[in-house]
Amino acid sequence: MDSKALYAKAQTLMPGGVNSPLRACRYVNSEPVFIENAKGAYLYDVEGRKYVDYVYSWGPQILGHQDPAVSAAAHAAIDHGSSYGAPCLGEVTLAEAITKLVPSMEMLRMVSSGTEATMSALRLARGCTGRKKFVKFIGNYHGHADAFLAAAGSAAATVPGTPGVPEEVTMHTLLAQYNDLDAVRAHFEACGDEIACVIVEPVAGNMGLVLPRDGFLQGLRDLCTKYGALLIFDEVITGFRVAPGGAQQRFGITPDLTTMGKIIGGGFPVGCYGGRREIMEHMAPVGGVFQAGTLSGNPVAMAAGLATLNRLAECDYDALEAKTKALTDELAAILASKGHPVCVQQIASAFTLYFTDQPVTDMASSAKADQKTFATYWRQMMDQGIYLAPAGFECAFTSFAHADEDFEKTIEAAKNVKF
Ligand code: PLP
Repeated sequence: MDSKALYAKAQTLMPGGVNSPLRACRYVNSEPVFIENAKGAYLYDVEGRKYVDYVYSWGPQILGHQDPAVSAAAHAAIDHGSSYGAPCLGEVTLAEAITKLVPSMEMLRMVSSGTEATMSALRLARGCTGRKKFVKFIGNYHGHADAFLAAAGSAAATVPGTPGVPEEVTMHTLLAQYNDLDAVRAHFEACGDEIACVIVEPVAGNMGLVLPRDGFLQGLRDLCTKYGALLIFDEVITGFRVAPGGAQQRFGITPDLTTMGKIIGGGFPVGCYGGRREIMEHMAPVGGVFQAGTLSGNPVAMAAGLATLNRLAECDYDALEAKTKALTDELAAILASKGHPVCVQQIASAFTLYFTDQPVTDMASSAKADQKTFATYWRQMMDQGIYLAPAGFECAFTSFAHADEDFEKTIEAAKNVKF
């Protein structure tokens, strides 16, 4: 069956034919291709077409697909059983590796997705402060737990309102524009002793990539400290992406709690949340805050995650960042020469090209980018074998598997786009 036939059938079986909304490609007025295989920097669809991948499973595959060490570790683990529901060595070794690389996470708890990580971290923050309210940023996405679906980014931004989320659940969610410290300060001045935490993507990745302004993260740190609220860095995207120790290492700011996912599972379903020991010990069975999971700490996922972190220790982050910058500079120049100036936001191996000539600093400015022009660009890049996220408000990722010739192919493809 080709992609068209598979998609027709999928739509009779799953809403929109997909298991996660953006995959349906509706925001670029298109249809998805179905993937059969992925290796290194490439995806192969069911019709045998090859694509240079810039999605990498929305972030986890920073080493490229089927990295030999990661695949070998997963195969070896599965030969010892796929799930125990009991403690195993892999949980300890991966937890130790993460806590060494991210020292603010003195203790952590493994879960199965980024969504679970953030919802658990919020519960923990509320449980240990005894407060209900929290601050989140418009256009930040923290997974699909109810409390976060207020002005969320990513695919959630495309759903008008969020039916199924009672306002009683989001009434404690206080909103601020990303990079707007004054708005956060105003919340604290209004009700600082009721705010359990501020949760932030330290580099926003779900309204497109948006960098934090100088002083923004430090300002959040200071406000949280002043008012006794916890600062949660949602590093589901930035963890092991923007630096080996995540955004907190790169920007030198220490959060109280951190959530991770994506890369730490090496392509398997993993998330984790962690922080200072005295905070984490509020979790059951030591403390009273409850959270559990049948597949948490799954041995195959732990093995793949550990192999990924071990491999990343040998990788040159600076070199990949420099190559990614050269790529985005070149793409921006090509698009500008075609009469479509773009605002480039890039850090490490993540970037977004916004079809706007205005600076993008928050959701309001991200929303001004021209999605129609992005859709034209996306379609023609796909047709030339360049696989980009099917929405203009997402990140593109480069990986350690990308070769110079992949970037050259991407640049050639961009040159051929006709608007
Ligand atoms: N937090 C951030 C910053 C994310 O980007 C995502 C997903 O993209 C999540 C949380 C949710 O993770 P998951 O999709 O694994 O539930």
